Amino acid sequence: MTDSPTLGKPLDFASAQSLPPEQAAFFHLGPSATVAEGVVFLSAMANVSVFICEGGILLVDTAITQQAPRVVEDLRKNYSQAPVEAIVYTHGHIDHVTGAQAIIDHSQSRGDRRPRVIAHRDVAPRFDRYRMLAAQNDHINQIQFAMPPGMKPFSNATWTYPDIAHDRGMDITVGGEVFELHHSRGETDDETWVWCPGRRVLCTGDTFVWSSPNAGNPYKVQRYAKDWADALQQMAALKPLHLLPGHGPVLSGEGRIEEALLSTAHFLRSIHDQVVELMNEGKWLEDVLRDIRWPATDKPWLQPIYDHPHFIARNVYRLYGGWYDGDPASILPAHSEEIAAALVAATGAAPILVRARKLRDEGDLQLACHLVDFVRKGEPGNRDAWELWRDLFAARAAGESSLMARGAFLAAVREAEAHLASPGP
Ligand SMILES: [Zn+2]
Repeated sequence: MTDSPTLGKPLDFASAQSLPPEQAAFFHLGPSATVAEGVVFLSAMANVSVFICEGGILLVDTAITQQAPRVVEDLRKNYSQAPVEAIVYTHGHIDHVTGAQAIIDHSQSRGDRRPRVIAHRDVAPRFDRYRMLAAQNDHINQIQFAMPPGMKPFSNATWTYPDIAHDRGMDITVGGEVFELHHSRGETDDETWVWCPGRRVLCTGDTFVWSSPNAGNPYKVQRYAKDWADALQQMAALKPLHLLPGHGPVLSGEGRIEEALLSTAHFLRSIHDQVVELMNEGKWLEDVLRDIRWPATDKPWLQPIYDHPHFIARNVYRLYGGWYDGDPASILPAHSEEIAAALVAATGAAPILVRARKLRDEGDLQLACHLVDFVRKGEPGNRDAWELWRDLFAARAAGESSLMARGAFLAAVREAEAHLASPGP
């Protein structure tokens, strides 16, 4: 389990950002709690788990920059004055790691030694990528989270690189107590989950987040559904008494934890295995999506409120297959605006819009969106098409539970509003 420690890179990035008030609710900080003796759960948008050991503290994750000062204040006021000895990142996502600098600054202001930051070896390359693609990440997060356009969380982030990197896991000692760090791929390729054998406490990171797993995110890089299911089963085999998740509340009780972990593993494995089976039958992506028998999402921790089962299947297909969709016209295609213009030139816009409205009235918003899109793109001056397109996506956003799908729908509404507000041709 133990790797030789390697040194991370020094940090050199910009200062923290401030949040507009409308975004503050999203970053809401809930009540903190003592889970077991010496185990404190500091609830935040991305939670922080605290192990108070003999003479030193281990923190699992740091919260996002904006919430870290409140987390530190809560810890000091209500729980412990011991120095923070080590910080473990569960993965390199912005909401889990960017509070590190505030925690380090706080430690040094007390005259404590700088806490060592420990993470999987792929966290550092992730930070490098975030710096390389900061503007793109800002853009894509504005859509995914329907954030106001001025927000630039990635351009303004401070990435505190790990001091110690592990590959397949390692054991660490804090205040004489041993903690097992385990690596698996799942939501990311750089995950660490933490097991405290002495107290039977499990910190899952985002491997468990009280919603259908974020294994399919349409905006972001590859996820790993099968490895994720494997990790959940490894966690369950340890028989934890308390599960401290990356997001959402603590789950306690051996039986409840086992059910939550194993049902989530079963859900992921069902989608994964079916995609593989259908790929082996020679099916293209759209046929795979049509033919899957979707596993139930009725457990409280499997609701598709963030990701969506369809996105997970797409991600499995992407992991093992290429991008070709099986349509020979699409392998070296015309631009979609040219295709739309050719269609509208052949049929005229009116019959397409009539058909789209009929579909809408019959309740088929999905197909109506596809039809209106031909007119919006093929005849960009057609205000009726833009208004219908906007109204269709507003209606879909109102009825959609997946935050990530809703984000795309709301971006369409904003795009239509901007187009309609600009002086037309
Ligand atoms: Zn997260």
